Amino acid sequence: MKSFCVIGLGRFGSSVVLSLVKNGHEVVAIDTDAKKIDDYKDIATHVMIADATDERVLKNVEIDKFDGVVVAIGKNVQASILTTMIVIEAGAKNVVAKATTDVQIKVLTKIGADKIIQPEKDAGERVADNLAHPDISEYLDLSDDYSFAKIVVKNIKFNGLTLFQANLTQDYHVNVAFVKKADGSASIGKHNTKIVLDDVLYVVGTKADIEKFSEII
Ligand code: ADP
Repeated sequence: MKSFCVIGLGRFGSSVVLSLVKNGHEVVAIDTDAKKIDDYKDIATHVMIADATDERVLKNVEIDKFDGVVVAIGKNVQASILTTMIVIEAGAKNVVAKATTDVQIKVLTKIGADKIIQPEKDAGERVADNLAHPDISEYLDLSDDYSFAKIVVKNIKFNGLTLFQANLTQDYHVNVAFVKKADGSASIGKHNTKIVLDDVLYVVGTKADIEKFSEII
């Protein structure tokens, strides 16, 4: 179990709180809006009606002691930037900030936020990726260039081959990290791991290589 602080209970922040609580973590939720705090008083571990731009508030909750802090204030750009700054200056770890504009992203990056989320934009990109490449069921960006994706084996040419025989790293510049079988069994990607039709491959590579690979596998 880990402990997190979520500042701002808008659509994004409240969904983060619900997921963290569902996964068994401790969550302190802060919002200026008494109605929102009331809605979450029985869900979060601890709630506070407070203005997070007030340094004393974040000092009082010992913001540096959490495993992660989510600044989920989007629309009020000034409050989002000021809060993120105070949180980082107070020594908080794993600071995730929500942004709604490109300028906000620039400033939050400069301030040193560990991760910046643009929920609508990120969801839009995922939908677009999925429409363009329905064979890739999930993408996770590892860096600007590299991604991790889930792809199902559909080409009979690969049926029954070991990963060594399939020669995917040499021929397609992707690495298979993990293979999940239709019967539920699974294994990490080793030289002698056999792949058959309908296996789900978890591959690492550049986005371009993964897209090419998804068309032939
Ligand atoms: P979303 O688009 O995810 O709904 P919003 O920006 O609309 O995000 O919501 C942000 C939430 O943050 C609101 O509930 C708002 O009351 C809260 N909030 C805004 N400023 C502060 C602040 N200074 N301190 C604490 N909470 C704040």
